[in-house]
Amino acid sequence: MTTNPKLEPYWMPFTGNRSFKADPLLMASAKGMYFTTTDGQQILDGIAGLWCCNAGHCHPKIVEAIQAQAATLDYATAFNLGHPGVFELAGKLTELAPGGLDYAFFTNSGSEAVDTALKIALAYHRVRGEGHRTRLIGREKGYHGVGFGGISVGGLSPNRKMFSASLLPGVDHLPHTHHIEHNAYTRGQPEWGAHLADELENIVMLHDPSTVAAVIVEPVAGSAGVLVPPKGYLKKLREICDRHGILLIFDEVITAFGRTGTAFGSVTFDVQPDLMTIAKGLTSGAVPMGAVLADKDIYTAFMTGPEHAIEFFHGYTYSGHPLAAAAALASLDVYRDEGLFERAAEMAPVLADAVHSLKGAPHVIDVRNIGLMAAIELKPRAGAPLMRALDVFRRCFADDVLVRTTGDTLALTPPLIINEAQISQIVDTIGAALKAID
Ligand code: PLP
Repeated sequence: MTTNPKLEPYWMPFTGNRSFKADPLLMASAKGMYFTTTDGQQILDGIAGLWCCNAGHCHPKIVEAIQAQAATLDYATAFNLGHPGVFELAGKLTELAPGGLDYAFFTNSGSEAVDTALKIALAYHRVRGEGHRTRLIGREKGYHGVGFGGISVGGLSPNRKMFSASLLPGVDHLPHTHHIEHNAYTRGQPEWGAHLADELENIVMLHDPSTVAAVIVEPVAGSAGVLVPPKGYLKKLREICDRHGILLIFDEVITAFGRTGTAFGSVTFDVQPDLMTIAKGLTSGAVPMGAVLADKDIYTAFMTGPEHAIEFFHGYTYSGHPLAAAAALASLDVYRDEGLFERAAEMAPVLADAVHSLKGAPHVIDVRNIGLMAAIELKPRAGAPLMRALDVFRRCFADDVLVRTTGDTLALTPPLIINEAQISQIVDTIGAALKAID
């Protein structure tokens, strides 16, 4: 493999291709909390790759498990066949998951997990004789990946507008919960905003409850810039869904596996979903894998008809791929053996103190956090939205720290192995960048 490839043929995802190719940033290797670029620069990873490398990079136990699996069983179809690893993984995941989430359906990404969950919800109502429940409700500012289902229930307009004529019909959206005029500089969950969940009742009544299949939200909206749910908000959604026979889907692609200081956001916020989507931290980012965890009653509803008949017409060539299953099993072991969810809870106040020290720094209009995720929102530069955050990103990178920008917000979601000195380094570097830019 060359370290100096031709850049042009690669059509990069979610990237300004032309500016990237004019000034590329290429990673050569990674270990623990650090990347090393092809120029030999060591970069402290403030975003766990992309909210995914929760155990840190190239964890030896995860690497070893993938290597051993690759040399033993490279592939086995998931259709009418299997391999022991994926069954073991389903068992371990459903043991870890809260409540009655007793079944796991495997996908290859968060986007596929979301579209799978939406299909399970629609099909569940149909197999129970309620095929009239076809409406899906998402939320403004929600991110649920890039499948047609995900962008339809998603609430980020740049992701929708190029495809707007072809989005799923029958989708409505809850209002978002991002109101810094009420909630600026909140540590953890805002006091204000639970009433925004009441809008679900209005939406449901508008369409007639018997037409609504499912509501999907991220417990903490990640890609929109770490929007922490107001106290009581998720419980209200649960109550309204229960009242009307609507399934509640939590998209935990980001919040699962320790990010909020427990195994899942639904544990942290003590609200039980009917379906949960997971990915990213499932394999600590090492091999693509996603899954939908489903309540026992949902799975059971499908188990009718002749026993040889396919119950759910859905699946992927790489569902439960042996390499991904091996990586996930090793990741779960590492999370448990190294106490990484507990570590995330321990380090959360350290991250909170550090990021909130940026209150009053130039351009900062809000700071928010929960667990090991935090956001620093900047006032957009007049006439040049996004540029201020991008300038901070570039300066931080030059100063050996990787942060993420989403709009004019900086997001931090470090690997759960981060230490105090590394948190200080990240926040000090951001502070210096904020002072240096206009
Ligand atoms: N859902 C949420 C909440 C996400 O944050 C993401 C990705 O960031 C996705 C779904 C899509 O996951 P993927 O990029 O693996 O398809």
